[in-house]
Amino acid sequence: MMFTENSGMSSSTISLPKCSCCHRHVMPNDKSVKFNCPNCGEDLIWRCQSCREAARNYTCSSCNFQGP
Ligand SMILES: [Zn+2]
Ligand SMILES: [Zn+2]
Repeated sequence: MMFTENSGMSSSTISLPKCSCCHRHVMPNDKSVKFNCPNCGEDLIWRCQSCREAARNYTCSSCNFQGP
């Protein structure tokens, strides 16, 4: 007997950063920006192109600081 222990379509390990506004993956060819949180300086904030154009607010995952 042969069993293939395959737990379906598990999440592939992609190391794309996530936009801090819409939480979608930031594509490398996006005109995205990244910067450190102006409040705590700990977290790296990513903003994708569409969030920049829409001027959405971001939230720091370290200190919950919200900024434009
Ligand atoms: Zn976004
Ligand atoms: Zn912060």
